[in-house]
Amino acid sequence: MSEEEKFDVIIIGAGPAGSSCAYTLAREGKSVLMIERGDTPGSKNVTGGRFYTYALEMLDSGLYEEAALERKVTHEQIMLLSGDRSISIDYHEPGFNTGGEAPMSYTILRANFDEWLAEKAEEMGAMLACGIRVEELIERDGKIVGVRAGEDEMYADVVVAADGVNSFMAQKAGLIKDIEAHTVGVGVKEVIELPARTIEERFNLKEGEGAARMILGCTEGIHGGGFLYTNQDSISLGCVFMPAKAAERGKTIHEIFQDFKMHPSIHPLLQGGLTVEYGAHLVSEAGYRGIPRKIYREGFLMVGDAAGFVINTGYSIRGIDLAMLSGIAAARAIIDAENTAEVGPQYLKELDEIKIIPAMKAADGFFDVLETPGLYDKMPNLANDVFNNLFTVDGGVPGSIKKDVMRLIKENGLSMWQLIKFGLKGVKSL
Ligand SMILES: Cc1cc2nc3c(=O)[nH]c(=O)nc-3n(C[C@H](O)[C@H](O)[C@H](O)COP(=O)(O)OP(=O)(O)OC[C@H]3O[C@@H](n4cnc5c(N)ncnc54)[C@H](O)[C@@H]3O)c2cc1C
Repeated sequence: MSEEEKFDVIIIGAGPAGSSCAYTLAREGKSVLMIERGDTPGSKNVTGGRFYTYALEMLDSGLYEEAALERKVTHEQIMLLSGDRSISIDYHEPGFNTGGEAPMSYTILRANFDEWLAEKAEEMGAMLACGIRVEELIERDGKIVGVRAGEDEMYADVVVAADGVNSFMAQKAGLIKDIEAHTVGVGVKEVIELPARTIEERFNLKEGEGAARMILGCTEGIHGGGFLYTNQDSISLGCVFMPAKAAERGKTIHEIFQDFKMHPSIHPLLQGGLTVEYGAHLVSEAGYRGIPRKIYREGFLMVGDAAGFVINTGYSIRGIDLAMLSGIAAARAIIDAENTAEVGPQYLKELDEIKIIPAMKAADGFFDVLETPGLYDKMPNLANDVFNNLFTVDGGVPGSIKKDVMRLIKENGLSMWQLIKFGLKGVKSL
């Protein structure tokens, strides 16, 4: 392809960030080429699978109604595991999941969702090229002016790196260094097929309703946690681990995940199901402090996971919606800027306006809370001990609950002071 045939924008990666950017640009008449290394968008993606629909509304009003969504989340659940015991909390309110006009959150399967969203961008006029891996950026006079894939060179005024966590493109642009182990988690996930009716019975759901469950205590004390999402005809089950800590264990991540699957409170939910997908992927864990110092240079922008836009609070994870918002913000900056030098500074303003940076700043304290020693083993064990104590009736004279709890705190190798400090950290992070 010659330089005369260049595009306004080339986007590397057709995940939610790339497709949202392509959609917005193409709708405004920009010529856009989106390049995806997978055979289809979403074929290379691993994610938990809950999605907040407001991001689709921001892309285009009413778009969520035709989106490739699975089940509307009506049951928000938290589970604490310890040994073969468990505590489950299920928050349910029929009218809860409404964010203004549209339902607020759905479960999704990324292979379907990403393909659908990329098709929407194509309908707007963006060009999608799948099965191509971008290898290099082309730089001239200090500006990024295009990309190289094999023998092919493609040119554009702006190149958008939407290539996900540990962005090689951002590394090539000299904006990030190699990944630091303590800033990312390793996620493993299985999709287990089951009939819709069985899922509804096991999770106490009405037709089309879904459950989203975050699970603590399933990582053998390693910083991390589990998730379970009900899809239409399948369950997404997974765990995220901090790799540095996992390496110190005798077991592999796969083995810990298999033990989690066999837990007496998890296995009956999956029984009779067929595993149709198994994958692993990195996930950015550092939140606001993980955003690189610079996320643009002339002719080049970073969006979505490539820019570190993920919020993990422990009870929820938001990466897909932020990826979409940053794609929209990048597109708006490209549309509004008068020249390529203005695009980057304009992008920062748009990120503020679309509320990504304020939201990430607000959630920054959760990083410290999630670093609390004992959170992934001693605390879920203590909670299970306390419940066991409360519900044990053996005909004897019950002891003082306060004294029993103090004893259990000590037996779990914790102190009242540690728990107070944890509570204060939690309050501070809110
Ligand atoms: C286990 C796990 C659970 C998660 N759970 C949730 C959840 O429930 N909800 C949520 O909101 N977020 C969740 N996240 C985070 C979420 O998946 C990401 O934040 C989101 O996918 C980021 O979107 P993106 O478009 O920036 O990048 P990605 O979705 O990673 O897309 C990047 C795309 O770029 C392509 N690509 C990469 N390099 C190249 C190249 N050189 N050339 C061409 N194409 C390339 C890839 O194939 C891919 O399609 C989870 C993540 C993990 C790992």
